[in-house]
Amino acid sequence: MFSIKTSKGPVSFTRFVGPFINGKFQPSLAAKPSRKPLLNPCTEELLENVEEAGPEDVDAAVKSAQAALKGPWKNFTGRKRRNVLLEIAQAVEQNKWNLTVLEAACGKPLEEAKFDIEEVVECFRYFAGHADKLHGQNFATEDNHKSYTVRKPVGVCGLITSFNYPLVLAAWKIAPALACGNAIILKPAPQTPLSSLMLGELIAKHTDLPHGVFNVLPGGEAVGSAIVNHKDIHKCSFTGSGGVGRKVMAGAAQSNLKKVTLELGGKSPLIVFADADLDQAVEDVFGAIFSNMGQNCCAGSRLFLEKGIETDFLKKLKARVEEVKIGDTLDEAYNFGTMVDRVQFERVMNFIEKAKKDGDSELLVGGKRYGDKGYFIEPTIFHNVKETAMIATEEVFGPVLSVMKPFSSLDEVLERANATPYGLASGVWTKDLTKAEHCVQELETGVTWVNCYNLCSSHLPFGGVKASGFGKDLGAEALDGYTTVKAVTIRV
Ligand code: NAD
Repeated sequence: MFSIKTSKGPVSFTRFVGPFINGKFQPSLAAKPSRKPLLNPCTEELLENVEEAGPEDVDAAVKSAQAALKGPWKNFTGRKRRNVLLEIAQAVEQNKWNLTVLEAACGKPLEEAKFDIEEVVECFRYFAGHADKLHGQNFATEDNHKSYTVRKPVGVCGLITSFNYPLVLAAWKIAPALACGNAIILKPAPQTPLSSLMLGELIAKHTDLPHGVFNVLPGGEAVGSAIVNHKDIHKCSFTGSGGVGRKVMAGAAQSNLKKVTLELGGKSPLIVFADADLDQAVEDVFGAIFSNMGQNCCAGSRLFLEKGIETDFLKKLKARVEEVKIGDTLDEAYNFGTMVDRVQFERVMNFIEKAKKDGDSELLVGGKRYGDKGYFIEPTIFHNVKETAMIATEEVFGPVLSVMKPFSSLDEVLERANATPYGLASGVWTKDLTKAEHCVQELETGVTWVNCYNLCSSHLPFGGVKASGFGKDLGAEALDGYTTVKAVTIRV
């Protein structure tokens, strides 16, 4: 057992020894297994050591997944798959406090972690509803031919996730993959594997999912790359950075041309018009950039304000930022946490230090480490940011907002907002619905929020365009990534 201290008392967990393969935890098969020490990023104290998987474990997990696909899982009807997904949702719900604590122990405030676990439950329930409704199309009979299509599972799917929403991002992939009848090898991010490992334990204990259908391999690049390049894995759904996403696509091309979905980063624009409800816009902009301490793929990191409102808006936004309570994320008294680890902390601090020196912007608030222990960074706003500044062009993935120079016209702001290789999300605040609809049509992003931000829901497809990737998590569209379509023609 290991235990995590929270403001409500300690919480105990089973020790997850090694990878979860074929329904149980087992020592890694790697020739020299490595044990990764996970630190609590608020205290820099040891949380747990995790034995990481190696390429040998990928082979073992693929074999167990293939056996399950040929065996009991093959005979699971849509109804039975639906029931298993509902069992998973129930197991997560009944253990939501423990899972919340595991997420919060990675530097995420308890309040946000609680919300994440509720979203996980919702996601499994939503895709349970699809499991018994997967169908193809029927075509009008032509001459003496009858044609229709059937949807088949892809087979063994490799799911690779990033560190920022560990169990949410995993659920976005696991739930549709199971709904369609696939078998899974999940590789969580090396910084945040614990909640995914606990999901393995819950599935084994509380559901009828056959062993081998769901496997979890903790580890980093070596195990990720072995999944991407494996010839018997036929789908890779990846969430992470653009650099690694490109390697995933290359590996898929070189190995077996597996299907690929890429959920990558962003540099999302926020546009506030003078006619907007400014108090609401301030609150939404605050959440757009600072939720999860900016470690959010759709973080609204470039703010465009219409000329004339900037002084008032920034005064209110600065006051809102000064309300945050930075501190231990396992204590409900605090609502702003840390960067996930020292590497991310140093990366983000480098962006801030460079911005302070390069003269491309002015610091409005923040700009420093908070305290001298843990990976806390103050919520930071730079304003009057030049279009070419590093903080305006590159994904910081931390609590840093670039307020760009004010805009004077609709066409001007749309051109500036779209002037990025990324295309994940965008936000617009205005009371004028004609203007809002024009922005929706013109913004080159996979998601646009109007008079709100960051509202994701299981029934809505989520994913980017341009260098933010392709394919969708969530919504009925996610099912396309986990099925193949067979066309059938019968002479009648
Ligand atoms: P990352 O790219 O460093 O790592 C992501 C995952 O890929 C990890 O599990 C990692 O171990 C694995 N990996 C590393 N090298 C690999 C390789 N060669 N082959 C296969 N897998 C490999 O990203 P990160 O730092 O964990 O997360 C931050 C990034 O994720 C940001 O760019 C963020 O925008 C993006 N993200 C996107 C979405 C989305 O839905 N679009 C959601 C969350 C995060």
